[in-house]
Amino acid sequence: MKLALPERPQGNYRGRFAPSPSGLLHFGSLVTALASYLHAKQNHGQWLVRIEDIDPPREQAGASEAILKTLETYGLYWDEQVLYQSQQSNYYLDALSQLKAEHLSYYCQCTRAQIKQRGGIYDGHCKLLNHSKHNSAIRYINHYKINQFNDLFQGRVEIDNKLASEDCILFRKDGLFAYQLAVVVDDIYQQISHIIRGCDLLEPSARQLSLFATFGHQPPVLGHIPLAITEQGYKLSKQNKAPAINNLRPQSVLIQALQFLGQSVETGLEDLSPEEIVAWSVKNFQFTAIPKQQEIVINHSIF
Ligand code: GLU
Ligand code: ZN
Repeated sequence: MKLALPERPQGNYRGRFAPSPSGLLHFGSLVTALASYLHAKQNHGQWLVRIEDIDPPREQAGASEAILKTLETYGLYWDEQVLYQSQQSNYYLDALSQLKAEHLSYYCQCTRAQIKQRGGIYDGHCKLLNHSKHNSAIRYINHYKINQFNDLFQGRVEIDNKLASEDCILFRKDGLFAYQLAVVVDDIYQQISHIIRGCDLLEPSARQLSLFATFGHQPPVLGHIPLAITEQGYKLSKQNKAPAINNLRPQSVLIQALQFLGQSVETGLEDLSPEEIVAWSVKNFQFTAIPKQQEIVINHSIF
């Protein structure tokens, strides 16, 4: 099938930062924002911001505004208008109806517990059962099994074959669009050429590449940067309540983000404004110095 959205012109660099407003930015999300911004700007590209607000129950009131404000505080200014996924439902519905019309999806009524009992990876149980729409999730039929891809920073990434063959969920039983659907439709819609994000999304990348193929569009280049891990070994995330970054000293947070990304930082940089530090970084940042994903332990004093 071919999703009816314009093809991205060759050679145009378009990157994006796509936070979910389920909380404020933490150190890990700032690192991602900074890396994707710098990669876009070093490539003379556009850097877009997309608010992934498709999950109202998990949204925190005021978080979208606070995230945008934080980005500005850190000197990370976006090009073009911010895109809100809550405004994109028609595009997601179009994609779903086209998949249905072409018999590339099916309704699934399995519970999480049932799937877990059958080994944790979805086995296509409902594919031939012809369930009705009522109380069902929608899965797409995975014709493109992506079990490896090249990542800008992590090199060759291999994905378990079973996972690569999974028919993943595009529409949830609770009536919400799934992340995989929204993210791919919008990356096509916004003509994104490069996705720079955290290694927590390395595995979902395989599914997304498979969806790009299903939708008949060229996938973006992928680059995953290492995750900030706490001293206890947890990844920083909103789910485990990572603290919001301290906006009173954006300079020192920016410098710690640069150091986290393997950069050696000049003394005196801290005395510049956030905008100047970002401009220095556009000039001097070396993507080859980014460490591979590993148990990088960061000190709590960062917050
Ligand atoms: N919205 C996702 C998050 O906050 C990121 C999506 C993406 O970069 O693909 O974790
Ligand atoms: Zn099922």
